[in-house]
This record gives sequence, C-alpha cells and structure tokens, in this order.
Amino acid sequence: MFNISESNIIEQDETWGGFENEGQPQVRIVRNQADPTMIVDGVDGISVTCESTNRFYVEYWGYLAGGLWATRDGVSELKQNLLDDQDDIPGWSLSTDLDELPDWFPAPENPPSPVTCTECGSEVSGTKVVTPYSGELQDRYCPDCWVSVREDL
Ligand SMILES: [Zn+2]
Repeated sequence: MFNISESNIIEQDETWGGFENEGQPQVRIVRNQADPTMIVDGVDGISVTCESTNRFYVEYWGYLAGGLWATRDGVSELKQNLLDDQDDIPGWSLSTDLDELPDWFPAPENPPSPVTCTECGSEVSGTKVVTPYSGELQDRYCPDCWVSVREDL
C-alpha cells in the first residue's frame, strides 16, 4: 500500500478498528483532483497518527478504505512516494500546515510551485488549479476562471 516496503508495514488493520487516537497529532495527505471531469477511484485521503516511537497508524479512505500500522521508516517512505516526487501539478498534497507538522513527520522536500492560469494569467497553487480533460487539452484554470469557463463548455 502506497509503496511502503513490506518490512516497514507492521500489520494490516483487518477489522479497521484503528486505535484510540483522540488528541494525538495527525498528519493528513489528500489526493489533489485537478481534473473535475475525471472520476477517480482508489484512495482520496490518508491520515497518519503516532501511536508510539516506531508504530504509526495510517488510515486511508475513499473508494478504497482501511488502515495499517507502519514503522517510522514506513512513514518516511509514504512521504517520499506521495509528496517528494512532484510534477508541476501534484497528485497528492499535505493538508496539514507545515508549521503544524509533528517532529516525526519529515517535511516534503519541494513544495509545488505555482501554475499560470491559461485564461487570466494569474498564478495559482498546484493544489487549486483546475485541468479539465487533462491529457487532451492542456488548459489550466484558476478556480475563478474555471467557474466562468465551465459554463461555456
Ligand atoms: Zn484565471
């Protein structure tokens, strides 16, 4: 799951019971769905919670949902696989503020740089840009332009 090595997965949460994690700091990673015309299956969001120094609960939800326990190295792998390999429009993004990251979660190396809106030329964050029919047209819209462009399609 999420390309975490087998050796860094402690166990799968077969019952999806999770553990009592109220009040524990949590890191959330969400799928960045830039193309509103595409139906995405799989996982939409992931949360990571520290249970002890080398035991972390990774919960995921979406079309696929479940949980697993991973080691601290497993959490680093998850971060590398989802957050470090960034195209200009990232597939995943951190929804926890950088300054709220707990010390056990490594900060992403390259925060995505802004993308230019095809319509108005303004710069829009890679997690807010809209790329309808990606793969066919290369148009990129800021959320404001997308609202008006969408009505003409
Ligand atoms: Zn625009």
